[in-house]
Amino acid sequence: MSQTPAFAGRKFIVFALLATLLVWGLIGLDLWLVERQPPAGTTAPAEEMPLFAVATWEKALVALGVLLSLSMIQACRQLYLRSRQGEAQLAMHSRLVDHTSEAMLVTDGAQRIVSVNAAFEQITGYGPGEVIGRTPTMLSAGHHGLAMHRTVWDMVAESGFWQGEIWDRRKDGTLYPKQLRITAISEPGQPASHFVAVFTDVSEQKAQAERFDYLALHDPLTNLPNRLALDSHLHAVLDGAVPGIDRLALLIIDLDNFKTINDSLGHHAGDRLLAEIARRLSGHMSKHRQLFRLGGDEFVVVIDHLLNEAAVVDLVQAMVRSMGEAYEIDGHVWRSTPSIGISLYPEDGRDGQALIRNADTAMYYAKANGRNNYQFFAEPMNAAANKRLHTESELWRALAENQLVLHYQPQIDLLAGKVVGVEALVRWRHPQRGLIAPAEFIPVAEACGLILPLGHWVLLTACRQARAWRDAGIDMGEMAVNISAHQFQQPQFAQAVQAVLAETGVVAERLELEITESSIMHGVDAAIQTMAQLRAMGVKLAIDDFGTGYSSLAYLRRFPLDRLKIDRSFLADVDTDADAAALLTSIVQLGRSLGLQLVAEGVESFAQAEFLRTLECERVQGFHFYQPVSAEEVVGRVGGLLPLPA
Ligand code: C2E
Ligand code: MG
Ligand code: MG
Repeated sequence: MSQTPAFAGRKFIVFALLATLLVWGLIGLDLWLVERQPPAGTTAPAEEMPLFAVATWEKALVALGVLLSLSMIQACRQLYLRSRQGEAQLAMHSRLVDHTSEAMLVTDGAQRIVSVNAAFEQITGYGPGEVIGRTPTMLSAGHHGLAMHRTVWDMVAESGFWQGEIWDRRKDGTLYPKQLRITAISEPGQPASHFVAVFTDVSEQKAQAERFDYLALHDPLTNLPNRLALDSHLHAVLDGAVPGIDRLALLIIDLDNFKTINDSLGHHAGDRLLAEIARRLSGHMSKHRQLFRLGGDEFVVVIDHLLNEAAVVDLVQAMVRSMGEAYEIDGHVWRSTPSIGISLYPEDGRDGQALIRNADTAMYYAKANGRNNYQFFAEPMNAAANKRLHTESELWRALAENQLVLHYQPQIDLLAGKVVGVEALVRWRHPQRGLIAPAEFIPVAEACGLILPLGHWVLLTACRQARAWRDAGIDMGEMAVNISAHQFQQPQFAQAVQAVLAETGVVAERLELEITESSIMHGVDAAIQTMAQLRAMGVKLAIDDFGTGYSSLAYLRRFPLDRLKIDRSFLADVDTDADAAALLTSIVQLGRSLGLQLVAEGVESFAQAEFLRTLECERVQGFHFYQPVSAEEVVGRVGGLLPLPA
């Protein structure tokens, strides 16, 4: 058994004390005997005997006694000093224990609490007087906690150590999780004499971890579970799903024209709309219908335990109805409609990714079908989506390999009877498919971002052509170029136009940009600024396809414009239908009242041209006069000064 130094020191003192007492006892006994029986033949009394007359062994005995006494005094002094040191150390330890933030509890071998520290009282609410003498199970959370406590303490009794997390109850009744470590104190081969439990309250860390988990899986704006949560939900519901028995539907809901509210009322209003939509959609959810926000204006609903498609249709119709009701946002009444794509498990996909992809394709179709409707996924959609992808990759090559060409369609001043300009219209000279019309590839270019380099190429090529004609002494009037919304909304658009004019040497007044209503209705202030910059340079601005967008003539008053190009749909039947004629008349009159020049596009017949002449609509463009053709052909046909075909 190992001994502590203090214990060994104490033993030594007892031994030294006994030895000293023995030695001094012997000396005393010897002196007493000498006094009682003086040695025979001596006359001097014992007390007068000189010390040197004392026997040698007696001297040795006295010296030993002195030596032993001195060493005993020294040992006592050492012991005293050591015990003082021990006390100071103990006091320091107890202060440390009291100041540590970890709660400590010490029990005896029978698991009765013998001491606790200050942190214990702070965490549990129990003072030492309330717990000393009782067992730690008094801290347990309740019935289950008690069983757990017993198991834990039994394990400590068996193995000497336990560590883990358990839930306990404070004095005020609240539950809290704690990280606990219990160690048994014992001599080898002996049962534990004490147990020391050290614990910390981890409720704050746990709450924080839960908050992090929540944030990682939820969208802060709507509080809906996010894309990550969708992935794990799909994983969970599809994991045990049996094709042919379990059915599931995935709906992607995309808002129509969400950008408009953001652009016209600001992002704050857009956020309010999204939050309100989330609230309305949540009203249709249940245990087997869960709503997620994918980001932007896209929501997803997953229906598991699906019985039939009719149930999906019922839900979709109910959601469309409640989403379609008016929204009151920052004092504005707003309407919003959704386009919804639906995919079904197992027929449209066996895993989450396939279901999302196909619902997305179906949603794209719903949008193309005039928005505010829903579409179930169908396999041919994928073929079309693939074709779109194929066109996209081919189009990049087309731009790099100069497969794009411009055709020009003249515009005529009806009153003066001469060509006053040309509109540049892009075509794709495909190596296998021949000449492809812009309607087939411009939307693809717009969707994939290719419209920016493509649009720049068109502007530069058209301006170079204008310059080439001028250099050749051919007067084609103004050059009109179509600008897509994405291109127009580039922050440096006006500067890019100026650079092209500078590079080609074309006079700004000879360039007309045709922009669409959607270009200027999204982000009105920025649009007005860009338009003002262009106007200041001298560039002319026209609204293309007027009447097909959602702008009103009164609204157009705010924009610095030169011309309106009336969409060709307004020209149909004007020569035979009185209503159509009245509508076109009022458009021309209203446009004129705004101080704008009018251009009628798509004039296909003499009768239409005549009607426009009576309305004094000065400019016209259409197959009745000229088809769009290449630069060389247009010169040949117009001939610069040739008489116009009637
Ligand atoms: P848009 O700007 O309204 O161009 C007029 C379209 O009407 C042209 O079709 C033209 O060929 C056609 N058109 C002209 N006269 C008549 C007519 O009498 N009857 C009929 N039915 N059609 C007529 P195109 O060239 O196929 O262009 C279609 C659209 O593609 C253009 O409509 C324009 O929005 C867009 N586009 C064409 N080139 C470009 C371009 O370089 N950039 C951009 N962003 N869009 C372009
Ligand atoms: Mg145009
Ligand atoms: Mg047009």
